[in-house]
Amino acid sequence: MIYISDTLTKSKVPLETGQPNVVKMYVCGPTVYNYIHIGNARPMVVFDAFRRFLEFVGYKVVMAQNFTDIDDKIINQANEWGVDWKTVADTFIAECYHDAQMLGIRTANFHPRTTDFVEDIVNAIAKMIDNDFAYVTPNGDVYFSVRKLTDYGKLSGKKLDELRSGARVDVNELKIDPLDFVLWKSAKPGEPVWNSPWGKGRPGWHIECSVMSQKLLGDMFDIHGGGEDLIFPHHEDEIAQSEALTGKPPARYWMHNGMIIVRGDKMSKSLRNTFMVREAVRKFGKDGVRLFLLSKHYRSPMEFFDAPLEDSSKAAARVHATLYRFTEKYNYPLVPKYDEEMNDYQTRFIEALSDDFNTPVALSVLFNVVRELNKAMDDGNDERALKMYHLIKRVFGNILGIFDGETEKVQRVESEEMQTLDTLIRGIIEMRNNFRKEKQYEMADKLRNLLGESKIRLVDTPEGTKYELY
Ligand SMILES: [Zn+2]
Repeated sequence: MIYISDTLTKSKVPLETGQPNVVKMYVCGPTVYNYIHIGNARPMVVFDAFRRFLEFVGYKVVMAQNFTDIDDKIINQANEWGVDWKTVADTFIAECYHDAQMLGIRTANFHPRTTDFVEDIVNAIAKMIDNDFAYVTPNGDVYFSVRKLTDYGKLSGKKLDELRSGARVDVNELKIDPLDFVLWKSAKPGEPVWNSPWGKGRPGWHIECSVMSQKLLGDMFDIHGGGEDLIFPHHEDEIAQSEALTGKPPARYWMHNGMIIVRGDKMSKSLRNTFMVREAVRKFGKDGVRLFLLSKHYRSPMEFFDAPLEDSSKAAARVHATLYRFTEKYNYPLVPKYDEEMNDYQTRFIEALSDDFNTPVALSVLFNVVRELNKAMDDGNDERALKMYHLIKRVFGNILGIFDGETEKVQRVESEEMQTLDTLIRGIIEMRNNFRKEKQYEMADKLRNLLGESKIRLVDTPEGTKYELY
């Protein structure tokens, strides 16, 4: 049995799907006006690994992840570039696919875009107006009427009166209740527009996920996932909309990942504290970044700074070195026959992931097996080495989407050596510069000569001392 933490019931619950052996899962995706950063990548990696795990234990997973392709930020970016909104959206959707691929994230079954569903969105809003769950203001906006639902706020557990008194209502908004949220935004001059019975305009943000998830996965699918910053108002409003449309919440379970925190703030484009995925993969390797993102339980917040990412990258490099050592030593191995030890490791790994997808515990099992692989190779125990290799690469690696590549093993080992060398040389350069500052030229020259003997030439430039290998 698989247990997951459900945000709605605030408890750990057994996963019971609508259809036997099928998991239908919808995960909110990015608004496409920039490259994706590590904060965007966390839910992508977590739910990608979760999907792989579900498949491994025998589920068929049907997954949808959307692109919000119309939004104020996209329009602003388009104006800045002097192009139309669609150019911006198309550009960053392509870039998102590229970055996701760099991170080993498999494409979902569906990647719906908001603007492909405007007609369905308009129909859904019309239905909510008919059923008195929504109202049209004189300027052509449409709002969802929160007071029609007695239990609005149940996902986030927020107190409505507190929210009401804290809600800021712009003067030009004509809401009945300050918590009412927009379903349709009337046209503003110069903005992209679509037709509707209430005049030209475009969909509000929350309605797209309700409509697209219902259309692609049905009235009630199994898991709705996303970052915990989406709980309120986005997912709260999705529940309100679905209940207004179908009389049911959209999903059986709500799974939310914690935020990536940078010096006390959530990593977000608007706070300008982001670290882009492509930069991270280039610097720390795909497995280093994935290992970092899976090293904490998905619900915990993660402090982000370079050091732990570098640690994950080094840990990944050590595993690669071990796997490489194995492939150097042996020809491509056959699948071993499972024995008690293998079963035991695999059971512990699967049990950890079955308990609310506890990746830190699963990773500790994996690292145990890496140690055992090294030991088996040291001992010349070929059969045992094959078993451990099989577990790491073909079982654990496939489930978590790490250590499953063929091409990067050598390259990462080399680049780890280069990094160590680079640190060493920079340390010696710093020592030499200190000696020079203290006018101890003899010592400074000794260090320069020492590097010279190792075929490392120092070049003093106005920007500081550089080195080259010759
Ligand atoms: Zn969404």
